[in-house]
Amino acid sequence: MSSALQPASPHVRDSAVAATESPRVPRPSVAPNAEAPAANARVRLKAAELSAFFGSSEVVKSISMSFRDREVTAIIGPSGCGKSTLLRCLNRMHETVPTARVAGTVTLDDQDIYARGVNAIEVRRHVGMVFQRPTPFPTMSIRDNVAAGLQILGRERPSKTETDHIVEDALRRAALLDEVSGRLKESAFGLSGGQQQRLCIARALATRPAVLLLDEPTASLDPISTQKVEELVYELRQDMTVVIVTHNMQQAARVSDKTAFFLADERRVGKLIEYGPTQQLFEQPEMQETADYISGRFG
Ligand code: ADP
Ligand code: MG
Repeated sequence: MSSALQPASPHVRDSAVAATESPRVPRPSVAPNAEAPAANARVRLKAAELSAFFGSSEVVKSISMSFRDREVTAIIGPSGCGKSTLLRCLNRMHETVPTARVAGTVTLDDQDIYARGVNAIEVRRHVGMVFQRPTPFPTMSIRDNVAAGLQILGRERPSKTETDHIVEDALRRAALLDEVSGRLKESAFGLSGGQQQRLCIARALATRPAVLLLDEPTASLDPISTQKVEELVYELRQDMTVVIVTHNMQQAARVSDKTAFFLADERRVGKLIEYGPTQQLFEQPEMQETADYISGRFG
């Protein structure tokens, strides 16, 4: 491994220090046994001086962040500051937009995901993503929706029996199995919005990703479904890395270990303003912009 990441700005707190501090913010009640991330938890995903462009316009500028094992990072900031774009750069979804381009590096377990010869589909298998609106395939059964996540394995796809096991395991991890067992062959369309979103999480989990990217996963859900997804995020944190974009600051406080605040400048270039332990960022932000945003003064 090369030298440690240089912080993007003097205000970005040292992540090794940050990982030792467990925020005392209220937690979803379901997960009292979850352990705080170990101070020495390894960095799984790392962005270094990452910039993203659409054509000639730079929408995210020079972002450096490390995401550790068993750590949830919340990304907050006003609309248009580049949160989704950043997320999409972390699993090579950004490049699916014509004219989109990335500069800088992203590594997964020290491997450059943008290196020549690295298959973008393979990257997405290890860095899964779930979007704001649940996107089940309406004509497919619940089982096949989850199994669809395995399609990207191509020739390595498991047998039917193995697939059944993987589907069941993914549904269990997504806290949906109890609600759908016995009707796996029924259409996913019959599920509620919250169930559909957990189905999409199950689909992403089916390939056993190291990292799960969640882009405002509860924005379209009711409070009960939102709570289920939050509890799920807290559970998943026990054996993976989670990055969650949210507009809900209470949600960020509840589910995350670290929080990153993004803001677009006057030229609409998205920048990382502050990044640190969640409790610290919310209770003692270092930057005036962060203080203004979290107290609802703008955005
Ligand atoms: P956020 O998720 O924080 O709301 P986005 O990442 O969606 O922000 O957008 C960041 C900027 O990139 C915005 O100025 C938006 O208008 C622009 N943008 C997003 N998607 C595209 C696209 N497909 N083509 C051109 N510009 C885009
Ligand atoms: Mg967005």
